[in-house]
Amino acid sequence: MSRDINEIIKEMTLEEKAELCSGEGWWYTKALERLDIPAIMMTDGPHGLRKQSKGSDHLGLSNSVEAICFPTEAALASSWDRELIEKVGIALGEECQAEGVSILLGPGANIKRSPLCGRNFEYLSEDPYLTSEMAASYIEGVQNQGVGTSLKHYAVNNQEHRRMSTSAEVDERTLREIYLSAFETAVKESQPWSVMCAYNRVNGEYCSENEYLLTDILKDEWGHQGFVVSDWGAVNDRAAGIAAGMELEMPSSHGEGTKRIIEAIENGELSEDKLDQAVARILKVHFKAVENNIENASYDKDAHHALARSVAAQCMVLLKNEDEILPLEKEGKIAILGSFAKNPRYQGGGSSHINPTKIDTAYQEIESIVGNSAELKYAEGYSIEKDEINQELLTEAIDRAKESDVTVIFAGLPDRYESEGYDRTTLVIPPNQRYLIEKISEVQENVIVVLNNGSPVEMPWVNKVKGIIEGYLGGQASGGAIADLLFGNINPSGKLAETFPVRLSDNPSYLNFPGEGDKVEYREGIFVGYRYYDTKKVEPLFPFGYGLSYTDFEYSQLTIEQKEITDQGEVTVSLKVKNIGSRKGKEIVQLYVRDPESTVVKADKELRGFAKVELESGEEKTVTFTLDKRSFAYYNTEIKDWYVESGEYEILLASSSRDIRLKGKINVESTINLNKEVTINTNVGDLMEAPAKKKVLDQLLNKFMENSKLAADLEDGNKDIILAMMKYMPLRNLALFSEGVISREEVEVIVDDLNKTN
Ligand code: BGC
Repeated sequence: MSRDINEIIKEMTLEEKAELCSGEGWWYTKALERLDIPAIMMTDGPHGLRKQSKGSDHLGLSNSVEAICFPTEAALASSWDRELIEKVGIALGEECQAEGVSILLGPGANIKRSPLCGRNFEYLSEDPYLTSEMAASYIEGVQNQGVGTSLKHYAVNNQEHRRMSTSAEVDERTLREIYLSAFETAVKESQPWSVMCAYNRVNGEYCSENEYLLTDILKDEWGHQGFVVSDWGAVNDRAAGIAAGMELEMPSSHGEGTKRIIEAIENGELSEDKLDQAVARILKVHFKAVENNIENASYDKDAHHALARSVAAQCMVLLKNEDEILPLEKEGKIAILGSFAKNPRYQGGGSSHINPTKIDTAYQEIESIVGNSAELKYAEGYSIEKDEINQELLTEAIDRAKESDVTVIFAGLPDRYESEGYDRTTLVIPPNQRYLIEKISEVQENVIVVLNNGSPVEMPWVNKVKGIIEGYLGGQASGGAIADLLFGNINPSGKLAETFPVRLSDNPSYLNFPGEGDKVEYREGIFVGYRYYDTKKVEPLFPFGYGLSYTDFEYSQLTIEQKEITDQGEVTVSLKVKNIGSRKGKEIVQLYVRDPESTVVKADKELRGFAKVELESGEEKTVTFTLDKRSFAYYNTEIKDWYVESGEYEILLASSSRDIRLKGKINVESTINLNKEVTINTNVGDLMEAPAKKKVLDQLLNKFMENSKLAADLEDGNKDIILAMMKYMPLRNLALFSEGVISREEVEVIVDDLNKTN
């Protein structure tokens, strides 16, 4: 039976209300026995459960109960598969139920602004649409199990450097289009039980007391129904937090937060009404958690491990496959080099660190796939703990490679190279690993590199090897997934959810990352990731949306249902995709919108839809997308709303952001009248777009062109030049340059008329 929250609040003392807004210990909310309000538990997240039994901390240092380590978010996003992510969410929800956890602290929806961010492995993409769609599916999966989520870290938390103090200085359009959009769909469509506010400040104000972000946008505009929880230690002034819409402080501040709230109410700084609203939101989630709690729940660890393996295989990205070196045959002599083959890196460091139920190594899994059909030769090649080249290990690896028909090198980033809490300083892999790849490629022409890293690395050796699989940090069962892909048990189907630059300095945030002192200016604006590389025409190492398969796909028959819509309408776009190769496979079809002509600066193209389709060899399927206002809109800071400029838009169906297969067009008409006030300082050209205004203005322009000395003396060809120059001429100068033909009063009358015309 649901309890009447308003009645409970009426019964609560001021102290009890304030107490409820701070946690108990590291992971629990405060229980109020007198009112029969139990504590609930929250735990990290995002790609597995880190439930600490003894010894608590938020940095993943003390041990936690065993749980399945699923692929990290960086990997999950590369699947571009909403259903798959939902399945992971369901499994995570089951594990939470089994462990008595009410809220899982994830998913992370921060945009990958720079590949240097130490926590990129916990984030989804550089694109807000892909991020929000993936986050929404994750939330749905977990919450359908009666367990809440905490969408984090809201907002603009894109670096670890000075993460608790820095201010992300970002303009309003960029904030809306890139950094907030990543959260928006997930909030609106999946209603996470909680949203976690970030440590940092946005435009000077701590996220934990940022009313604009927490109340105006999150609650009022997007309609978030749950509560906002602080990141662990993100609270500056507890009372300001309540006023701004930050309901729950975590972890416990040992009475400090409570004291501050009471003091602020008593001295009139904070209204008790605000506190009541916070308490109501917390209680609503509390009771939902209690109602949904399943006693004695359990889960099948082996089944979840198997799921982790099959999910990992859908996430990994085949980056290179020269001479179709992959998939490998189960025959001959295969050298397996690199310590990661036996000591895999499958997760990142920090609060998301999971104590896995077991770990599959790629070496064991390859061994079990090839059995006696092929001869495996292993050498460690490098030490994971050190960067220095170890000659002995190197020589052994070269010998093994020489003896083999084909060599697979496992490389990537050791734990110390990327983690929560600090950023990377370089995109290179450790020198001993790079040297190994280069030396091996001198003695062996059939080299495949398998990478395990949480975000992009530079690959100066890219042309020296025939195959590259980006395995990301694929979770505890990633070894099996790698083996499945190498030998073709599964056809690779992941695509990059982020651009891999040739070199770090190509990245658009390069000059402004990680900022100066406690300020980081987002001067690249909306040009994040492929929005920059594609607009600026900078060749990436591997583009956004790119990934190969062991089969090929053909795109045909693009149909755009309407030729014209208004910004209130929707349009259905469909195409056919056919598997023209000999193996079953999955293709990720991407839909981008391009605005060829715009009065505001725009990216070359923006992702507005995607679908993953599975096709047998020879099979063809129709893929359908629906586009609406947001697919064509930009955030207009003058009207403080999404706005579609009337005109023609290109619809691009693509296999990656750099591989456009089909193109179509649609006309979209705006129903919003920007109705800017016309003054004598308005430029002539700004009025020529609206037909009715042009008609009014033409009276004056014709008079100018026919009667003014300036225009009359010109030859016909030069009249066009005058008209072109007039575009940037304020109306008042029609009077000045007409030399008495047009009076200032006449211009003022036309200005009045123009303001009456739409
Ligand atoms: C992290 C959060 C995490 C929390 C609790 C913080 O340091 O930023 O992502 O959920 O700790 O462990």
